[in-house]
Amino acid sequence: MKTKRIYLDNAATTPIDKTVSKAITEFEAHYFGNPNSIHREGQEARAQIDFARQNLAAFFSCKPQEIIFTSGATESNNLAIQGVVSEYVSAYNMKPHVITTMLEHQSVYNTVKELEKKGIIEASYIKPTKDGLITADQIIREIKDNTVLISLIFVSNEIGTVLPIRELGKQLVDVNKSSHYKIIFHTDAVQAVKHYNLNVQKLGIDLLTFSAHKINGPKGIGGLYVKSGTKLANLVFGGSQEYGLRPGTQNSTGIIGMAKAYENLGSLEDRQASGNAIRKMKSQLLEGLKQFNLIDINGSTDLEQSCPDILNFSILNKDQEMVIAKLDLAGIAVSTGSACVSGSTKPSHVINALGKITDREAATVRVSIAKSNSAKDLDQLIEAIKTL
Ligand code: PMP
Repeated sequence: MKTKRIYLDNAATTPIDKTVSKAITEFEAHYFGNPNSIHREGQEARAQIDFARQNLAAFFSCKPQEIIFTSGATESNNLAIQGVVSEYVSAYNMKPHVITTMLEHQSVYNTVKELEKKGIIEASYIKPTKDGLITADQIIREIKDNTVLISLIFVSNEIGTVLPIRELGKQLVDVNKSSHYKIIFHTDAVQAVKHYNLNVQKLGIDLLTFSAHKINGPKGIGGLYVKSGTKLANLVFGGSQEYGLRPGTQNSTGIIGMAKAYENLGSLEDRQASGNAIRKMKSQLLEGLKQFNLIDINGSTDLEQSCPDILNFSILNKDQEMVIAKLDLAGIAVSTGSACVSGSTKPSHVINALGKITDREAATVRVSIAKSNSAKDLDQLIEAIKTL
């Protein structure tokens, strides 16, 4: 008999929701035109995309023309960082300073590292506490005369800690009144859209990265919110699609699927209610893990400063690959951290930044829970850990 799988890797990706597949199939059946063509087929497809853009703009409380569609969050993060840096370099012929953190996803961390290595920017990487927390004051203290960009992850995809985006947004209003160059504030909100208030006005940010496949939407589609007046240089050159910022025929079906996935998230109250239900399962897991002397939680367990769905822990004296493989054989899918570094047996830059790694061997496990999971799933995981 085939054993029922327990999927607890929802921060890596999620299955496409049936309503999303239906919206995509219906769109494909009726609209094949190039949304940039002026004939009827094109304009009909364009109208559908415009509608999707309006719905996404409503989700983020911004204007439709402030939403740029991309191939996913990796591209959005690159466009945000490289776009701002190139703009400042060409406008002021200077060496910009960028502030980011050691908690970032590879698509931010490695982009900043690369620009630094090429000598294009100076960079500061803020170190978190051993619980994976960073304060707004820590960021403010790093600001220099040539600081042009702050890029901060909203919810850590590896350890689930929440960074003080709104508080920093508020403080930056004053800082920008007297700063040498206008400091652009970017957040990678990929793991935050499920449960947090993403009203960009209230957050006080200029650029926000989002994607679809972590919320039961399709892969290979994402977007960047670009506040009106924020100057970005292109990464690629071509036609004038996406207000000239992202040339190339849009991924129409992806856009339709992404808009449906965001619609399915519901109101902020709905998202918070679903977050509360998921947090109960996370608390159950945390409680269950207390029986193991050799398990150490990575990240904070504070309600305000940790997200409802991601829990990361290290199991001392265990081999990384063996742990994931044994759990997989037991029918449970979890990960070692970010799917983007899987295959690597070394701890990620995020886990290293917590400064807790000793010379003892340890396996790092990330569990990411979704609405579709149940308390029984977490019980089974706890049972499986006993057999490792
Ligand atoms: N940022 C964060 C926080 C993520 O979790 C991910 C996905 N692992 C990405 C960026 C990259 O997203 P995409 O797969 O859409 O490029």
